[in-house]
Amino acid sequence: MGSLDNGHSTERRFGTLAVHAGAPHDPSTGAVIAPISLSTTYAQTSVGSPVGLYEYTRSSNPNRDNFEEAIAALEHGKYALAFSSGSATTAVILQSLAAGSHVVSVSDVYGGTHRYFTKVASAHGVEVSFSPAIEQEVEKLIRPGETKLVWIESPSNPTLGLVDIRAVSEIAHKHGITVVVDNTFMSPYVQNPLLHGADIVVHSVTKYINGHSDVLMGVAAFNSDVLKERLTFLQNAIGAVPSPFDCWLAHRGLKTLHLRAREATKNATVIAQALESSPHVISVNYPGLDSHKHRAIALKQHRDGMGGGMLSFRLKGGQTAAHLFCKYTKVFTLAESLGGVESLVEVPASMTHAGIPKAEREASGVFDDLVRVSCGVEDAEDLKADVLNALGLAVADAEKKGNGKS
Ligand SMILES: *Cc1c(COP(=O)(O)O)cnc(C)c1O
Repeated sequence: MGSLDNGHSTERRFGTLAVHAGAPHDPSTGAVIAPISLSTTYAQTSVGSPVGLYEYTRSSNPNRDNFEEAIAALEHGKYALAFSSGSATTAVILQSLAAGSHVVSVSDVYGGTHRYFTKVASAHGVEVSFSPAIEQEVEKLIRPGETKLVWIESPSNPTLGLVDIRAVSEIAHKHGITVVVDNTFMSPYVQNPLLHGADIVVHSVTKYINGHSDVLMGVAAFNSDVLKERLTFLQNAIGAVPSPFDCWLAHRGLKTLHLRAREATKNATVIAQALESSPHVISVNYPGLDSHKHRAIALKQHRDGMGGGMLSFRLKGGQTAAHLFCKYTKVFTLAESLGGVESLVEVPASMTHAGIPKAEREASGVFDDLVRVSCGVEDAEDLKADVLNALGLAVADAEKKGNGKS
């Protein structure tokens, strides 16, 4: 076994845990990296006596166990459970609620979460109320006895607004309500919601945790033994579990999360500052900037006040310029998703958030000219030059086409 698996592992720092937590040496061969355990079933020596810890891979598997142990350590939770996607993680948590339950959620949740809340949970008798200002509104939205869950996403997507997790948790806990935080955008390196009062932290592992845009997976971490029993039961009963190969890959990605998250933050900061001083830009949303409306929350909630790798900005020239910008970048790829080593750009109003009615979108700051940027780990100067070049070209071309007024 690895020397960190001795019950003192949580005293170690992030980088040490990322590399070693849940990564025991193979006891029979000494292999430093765990083999991928593809077997779906495990032999038993007599009825009810499996050789080791495992019986059937949906219930548990060595690669999934290792990954879950690593996430629990990095999120400061007692337990973690992995699922086949971030969306499956959300679904299982919502499935844990009885029919008739009520949920209070921030309005700017991930599109797929919004879809699940409004089109799936509602069909199972779970009602969700959305709030654009949850710190101020949560108290009056709580229905005594009915409200079971508060759902927070911080930062929000794609406008990067922050929620004070502790402030909301304190109100929710007075009423015995469980608080969930979707921490996908920050990753466990930048923010640990359980340390700010949340009960469950969830991730789309697909993004920063795996970090290489080649695995779809989700995870939830928490401390409660009651939640452990309930969610483990549902993980097995529903069966939306990741494959051993995906667990192995995501665990490999996780080992460099701290390096990638630091580099992505550095790159995003350079780009946000360059955008902020460009005459072609209307506004920049980046929690690492002093001008950000929730900078005080970032300083309180994020490691060293880091802003993470995500930002968004509005440029002059309307939707035309936004579309052209994404066409003209050469290092940044035009694509959905985020959190990988490669930098991406997209136009939320036309892509990830196109399903939301225009008025509702614009009320939360998602205008047609808003561009979302996911900074990877390329060199900052190359990224900055690419952004400034594409920005100049896009704004000039949009003006020529007569779409200069936005
Ligand atoms: C991508 C994402 C999800 C959904 O995760 P999948 O792995 O794509 O199912 C949930 N929340 C946020 C914030 C995301 O970015």
